[in-house]
Amino acid sequence: MYAEVCLPFFIDRTFTYLVPKDYVEKLVIGSIVSIKFKNNICNGIVVSLSNTVLFKGKLNSILAIDSKNNVPMELWKTLVWMEQYYITPIGKIAQLALSWLFKKRINQPRYIKSLELDTNSNPLSFYTSSIDSFTHNQKKLINLLISDYPKPISLVLLKSKIKSIYSIKKILLDKKYLIESMNIEKDNNVINIRKNIDSIELTKTQNIIYNKIKDTKNNLWKPHLIQGIPGCGKTEIYLKLTDFIFKQKKSCLILVPEIALSSEIFDRFQIYFGGKVLTWHSKASESYKRSVWDKINSKKPYIIIGARSAVFTPLNNLGLIVIDEEQDSSYKESERQPTYNARNIAIIRSKFSNSTVVLGSATPSLDTYYNAVMGKYYMYKINERYGASILPSIELINMNKDQNSFINKPIFSNYLIKEINDKLNCKEQILILHNRRGFSALRDSQNKDEILKCKNCDVILTFHKNNNELICHHCYIKTPISSINNYSENTSLQQVGFGTEQLEDMLKILFPNKKTLRMDADSAKSIKKQKEILTIFKNGKANILLGTQMIAKGLDFKNITLVVVINSDIGLMIPDFKSHEKVFQLIYQVVGRAGRSEKKGKAIIQTYQPDSNTIQMATNYDLEKFYNLQLDTRKSLNYPPFVRLIRLVFKGKNESHCKLSADKIFRLLKIKFNNIIIGPLPCPIIKLSNNYRYHIILKVPHSQIRVVLKSIKNLKIQKKSLVYKGISLLIDIDSESVL
Ligand SMILES: [Zn+2]
Repeated sequence: MYAEVCLPFFIDRTFTYLVPKDYVEKLVIGSIVSIKFKNNICNGIVVSLSNTVLFKGKLNSILAIDSKNNVPMELWKTLVWMEQYYITPIGKIAQLALSWLFKKRINQPRYIKSLELDTNSNPLSFYTSSIDSFTHNQKKLINLLISDYPKPISLVLLKSKIKSIYSIKKILLDKKYLIESMNIEKDNNVINIRKNIDSIELTKTQNIIYNKIKDTKNNLWKPHLIQGIPGCGKTEIYLKLTDFIFKQKKSCLILVPEIALSSEIFDRFQIYFGGKVLTWHSKASESYKRSVWDKINSKKPYIIIGARSAVFTPLNNLGLIVIDEEQDSSYKESERQPTYNARNIAIIRSKFSNSTVVLGSATPSLDTYYNAVMGKYYMYKINERYGASILPSIELINMNKDQNSFINKPIFSNYLIKEINDKLNCKEQILILHNRRGFSALRDSQNKDEILKCKNCDVILTFHKNNNELICHHCYIKTPISSINNYSENTSLQQVGFGTEQLEDMLKILFPNKKTLRMDADSAKSIKKQKEILTIFKNGKANILLGTQMIAKGLDFKNITLVVVINSDIGLMIPDFKSHEKVFQLIYQVVGRAGRSEKKGKAIIQTYQPDSNTIQMATNYDLEKFYNLQLDTRKSLNYPPFVRLIRLVFKGKNESHCKLSADKIFRLLKIKFNNIIIGPLPCPIIKLSNNYRYHIILKVPHSQIRVVLKSIKNLKIQKKSLVYKGISLLIDIDSESVL
């Protein structure tokens, strides 16, 4: 027998290996095997098995099968589906989904020295009854061992608790009161269940939704969309459903958009499910992922909470997938292949695993909303908040009328300053959203009034005053201000616009005795830092939390009574088909952060475009009206959800090679798809990181998708002869941006 094995590379082929007789019965598709490749021993996955072989040369044999681990069949089928749909080699997909599998075992289980009571020499009762005959420190040690009996306690832990443990140990070992043993290090943080799930009381609406989802018998994989206003208690439904599925000994997967947010939801799940809840995210160490996999492989059910890549967690016996904030763009990979969307993959995986899939959002993506309206998904609405709180009132401030504001810059309206003061006086907290980081952009007024742009990218540079440098938010190149011509005379550079850094400075001047925290990609680079900021704010140690869209999602802080959006029109001018949808969602979501307890909340939205439909509807909670209007626009312009957008992006240092490659592919595709193809055009952002960018866009009717994918796949096979050397081609399926 022969096996086709995939390896973690971006090449469109698999490798044939001979299956030794002993392995014939054990080997299945999806088995993890050890093989020799180019004189290295490495891991691969069996893609197919057959009794014949086309290859004429000498074949190597499979060296070993990983009998402990295997990829669940439903997950494997999902990956194979991705290979076809995203036109990406299976080896590359396996590498993305199961990266740690291809790496050498980094951490062997660690053995640690432990102590336990010698109950062979003396019964346990002996130690309790004669406890007073021991010295003070001996007593301490024995008491600890009694309370943990029969579990041994690690020497490391004991060392921190008892003075001169080594001499005590020696004396007691000699007297046969103790045994010294070597144990595999166990999880130190086994968390106990602190609350019974029955303590969650669902509202009438929540209960109806919970029962409907739970009682669905046919088409288990038909997605359920819960569309509920912020603060309506979707998490309570997730918790109850998880409990229901978990009791059937099935695993559950809970996806959240941001890793920083996962800790909040993780804590909530742990209260009810204790050590059965695990996290999984791409930034976790390979050894951590392996340890999680070891647990999962024990075949016991687990609950995994994680961001995008957690959709590939190799859980056995999957029963439920929840995708919270399903509209979030962080679920979509747009930079490299496979250009997957974790929400869509979750739906595909639920089909193969026959599990229930729940999408949750206050503001669903237009695609999901459309699917629900058309009956492809079940839809449930929750229009009331959970508990005592009610939705905040919203005021829209027309900034064009506010000319006399703070230092003549209409950034904070007078009304807003008064409102912030009022809340601060009541010791309540304030959230301020401004979706632009840094201090400002700079304009060179002596030189054609140009706004300074990055040399490598077609992107405006941002001035960061704290470090006194200009930073490109795309390629991250930094230029010290001092190195820019004429800056020394301080005459030619003027600030244009403002970012969160500048707002932070202004808040300090306006409210000198209050503490403002800033959370954006500069001040909170690591997950640790993000958590730190949120904890300080949650504990009431700061008055104002200022930030970019990072602060709009998921935060549930009881003492926030005022939410502010400084310049709500940011984003409306971006020439992208989703820009209005994104602005609407951002405003709607951040407003929902206010008044999440019995204290009534308020939101103040400042705008220079008070007549914009998008801003009006977001501030009036007119969700359906906005969605219907957007659907009309998308339909008339032929955009998703009415078609599928496929974007081919050509990138390279040589602009004419880039353009010519795009031309060649375009001409070939145009023969078949004349009516649905656009291009080839320079991308709206023509240069990024010193690479020129050209694209071709296909607006594919749903019925034609397979044909189009097949044609693109055929072209990709001939890529070498069609695309210039040095030009890369990205195939973005279901593209969410055309920039
Ligand atoms: Zn740049």
